[in-house]
Amino acid sequence: MRLVIDPTRCHGHGTCAQLLDEYIRLDKWHYPIVAKQKVSVSHADLLRRAAQLCPELAISIVDE
Ligand code: SF4
Repeated sequence: MRLVIDPTRCHGHGTCAQLLDEYIRLDKWHYPIVAKQKVSVSHADLLRRAAQLCPELAISIVDE
């Protein structure tokens, strides 16, 4: 399972970094940087929640 953020949709609200602080940090303009793409199965629900809460629907979950 992999975390992907579409930079063309993201508006830098930062909600994702609050929910997924282990995976995402924000740059100085508050846009997300994915620090860790591979998501452990135990964090799958949290990732799905972050994807649902993203106001721009910029977060995707890719199954591998
Ligand atoms: S919540 Fe969505 S729009 Fe906001 S910074 Fe994260 S990916 Fe971008």
